[in-house]
Amino acid sequence: MSNLPKPLRSRLAEAFSLQTLELVRKQGAADTTQKFLWRLRDHSLIESVLIPANPALFGEASDRHTLCISTQVGCAYGCRFCASGLDGWKRNLTPDEIIEQVLAVERNVISDKWRVTGKEIMSPVTRHPSRFVDNIVVMGMGEPLANYDHLLKALKILNAPWGGGIGARKITISTSGLAPQIRRLATEPLQFRLAISLHGATDEVRNRIMPVNRKYPLKELVAACEDYQGAKGRMITFEYILIAGVNDSIEQTKPLAALARRLFAKVNLIPYNQVEGLKWDRPDEKVCEAFLRALEKQKVAATLRREKGRDIDAACGQLRLKTEKELGRIPT
Ligand code: SAH
Ligand code: SF4
Repeated sequence: MSNLPKPLRSRLAEAFSLQTLELVRKQGAADTTQKFLWRLRDHSLIESVLIPANPALFGEASDRHTLCISTQVGCAYGCRFCASGLDGWKRNLTPDEIIEQVLAVERNVISDKWRVTGKEIMSPVTRHPSRFVDNIVVMGMGEPLANYDHLLKALKILNAPWGGGIGARKITISTSGLAPQIRRLATEPLQFRLAISLHGATDEVRNRIMPVNRKYPLKELVAACEDYQGAKGRMITFEYILIAGVNDSIEQTKPLAALARRLFAKVNLIPYNQVEGLKWDRPDEKVCEAFLRALEKQKVAATLRREKGRDIDAACGQLRLKTEKELGRIPT
């Protein structure tokens, strides 16, 4: 921009940045789950995962694209089964780093099938201008509600008609259970969906795998969820990872079904994704199926995720951990 005065150019360079994310690694095929590893300005690494809702058939583009985004470098909450927290918490992402994940993925995946017309992207299916990413799940690295202000600023921009134009109901925030922030979120005007990483329906099970439960035990978490449910209607999902011998017994479906009914929540069952170096295993498929059937018998809306991206280190934080180890930044 040599037409601008030099002092202004240097002031602009000091105050603004045109790019925040640099692609380090990408895994997966264009028609399946794709995982992106990004390097930030300070050389920290974060991940985003693109998940097509319907796998591409006969060479057609799939019709929905969900992007899973990160909100922190590392995580302070240290759930025992999770790769994101293994190396501790480093810092919060800034609002631009949260938003850039959407834009950078779009820039990366848009091929000649997606025509770029000016600022907008034309869908080859609908022939209407739209975003490529039309669903956001805040389920990547970090605890989103521990970075509340930056998260909300980013999501408001992604939602705004002058910004990302992505409906609030197409945005899901996942939390390990920070009760005060759930209450705060209930007072926001936007109707985000809320996913609670429950993983156990009793304090005994949750205490074993999620240290956050000692701070906000189930009673407090459920009361905060009731606030959210009361303010927003049926917007809550329970995420429940099935871990062999920890939370997968049929007994556990009883307190889980009771909680789900109380909060009108849907239950998403996810077979555990093994993390190198951790002792937890996923249960047999039969055990997962039986758990699902037991919930359904108790009149709970539940799904069992035939989870995508298992072979590309898809669980939260795994690709970053692997790369940090390869770079020798953390011990193997
Ligand atoms: N901190 C937030 C959001 C990021 S974690 C939270 O905990 O909800 C996103 C989801 O991935 C959580 O439900 C988390 O429990 C789950 N998860 C973490 N490690 C996993 C693994 N190895 N296999 C399956 N799910 C995992
Ligand atoms: Fe943090 Fe969520 Fe992983 Fe727990 S599951 S360590 S809260 S990212």
